[in-house]
Amino acid sequence: MSRPSFDLAVMPGDGIGVEVTAAALEVLHAAGRQFGFRLAATEIDAGALAYRRTGVALSDEALERAGRADAILFGAMGWPEIRYPDGTEIAPQLELRTAFDLYAGVRPIRAIPGVPGALAAPQAAGIDLVILRESTEGAFASRGTGLLEDDRRATDRIVITRHATERLAQSAFRIARERAARRGGAPRVTLVDKANVLRSFAFMRSVFEEVARGHPEIAADTRYADAMALELVLRPWTLDVLVMENLLGDILSDLGAGLIGGLGFAPSADLGPRHGVFQPTHGSAPDLAGRGLANPTAAILSASMLLDWLGDRHGAPAPRDAARAIVAAVDAVFAAGRVRPPDVGGRDGTAAVTRAVLDALRGDA
Ligand code: NAD
Repeated sequence: MSRPSFDLAVMPGDGIGVEVTAAALEVLHAAGRQFGFRLAATEIDAGALAYRRTGVALSDEALERAGRADAILFGAMGWPEIRYPDGTEIAPQLELRTAFDLYAGVRPIRAIPGVPGALAAPQAAGIDLVILRESTEGAFASRGTGLLEDDRRATDRIVITRHATERLAQSAFRIARERAARRGGAPRVTLVDKANVLRSFAFMRSVFEEVARGHPEIAADTRYADAMALELVLRPWTLDVLVMENLLGDILSDLGAGLIGGLGFAPSADLGPRHGVFQPTHGSAPDLAGRGLANPTAAILSASMLLDWLGDRHGAPAPRDAARAIVAAVDAVFAAGRVRPPDVGGRDGTAAVTRAVLDALRGDA
């Protein structure tokens, strides 16, 4: 039987995006060789440095090429000093979300054994939750169209639609069910909002509760965002799937990353009906770029999410098995204390962490 083959669009972007994407790609190819599938990778030039060089951050051709791929591996884009004439930053990752209708930002927050997080409590080793961030509307809906009147008053809008909320909530219940099947335990979905203050959030809550009634076997509850920020710090190990509006997800997922060692350990997937973009939660980190010090773990775990998603969509067990093996390799490396990157107080740079994960994947370590 011929090996399954997948077409991968690779968008390394700027700064450490380039460095951690190269690491993730190395791990993906190694996993393909080991588990019997092929990844044909095409690199796509986009981002802030591309904008400075060519005047275009994300060309139509680049978008079209990415759209044809089976999956998109993304690094990070943006550079604080490179801006559009209106003063805003170059952020093609936001354009991809709109172009490919990537409504579900899946951000797992899982404690990796051996990685020191922010919390001293022994239960912190059990942190394993998912933040599901709506990524096409909410407080980001008026991006580029906010109003400033006479330098006295500025306004933006929050948009919550039934369509986006229903499909996001359905994704949350699906993720909770899959997690319970894999890990055991009782699934639970929590909507995080500000329904006590804002009309848009009250509407989001009512739609969420309608969807929840269709999943009586899964516990569903709601929390105000301020209370959830507290709960994330005090008892994150009790949480399962948290679903929320765009801006709340943006903020709380960085808080979540802090709980498990920082942005270098926080992977993500932006999923739409037909496309998936897989990227670490972090940005281009100009302070680290070009120094070989970026932690590639978040990018490598994002690559594992890519394989899991591909395997699921194509009914192919090999990528799914490889996805699990990559997570196991990452866990083994840190649990054994084989490497410690600088963001958690060590000295092992991008190459050393990548090599250790590759060795563990091969079973050499
Ligand atoms: P950042 O995530 O790049 O960096 C924040 C801090 O975390 C820095 O101190 C950085 O050194 C550290 N850090 C980030 N990733 C790390 C890693 N893998 N290993 C070790 N340390 C890591 O956020 P920022 O500084 O606010 O933004 C820098 C640029 O990135 C900006 O232009 C911003 O717009 C862009 N950005 C892009 C994305 C994206 O492409 N999805 C996301 C966030 C920020």
